[in-house]
Amino acid sequence: MAEFENPYVEEDPFVQAHFDCLDCGGKLWEYAVQGQMVCEECYGVFRSEQVFDAAVERTAD
Ligand SMILES: [Zn+2]
Repeated sequence: MAEFENPYVEEDPFVQAHFDCLDCGGKLWEYAVQGQMVCEECYGVFRSEQVFDAAVERTAD
């Protein structure tokens, strides 16, 4: 299980994450506090865990 350290501790609560939207492929922005990410294109909201899991699956080959 990969571990994700949060480098944004006590910085902006709203940071650009390194993940793509699961729906449209747009950039996701992470709410560090809530553990959620929101897409700048479709405004979809995803749980960080959900995005991490999807990213891990995609790079698991
Ligand atoms: Zn999207």
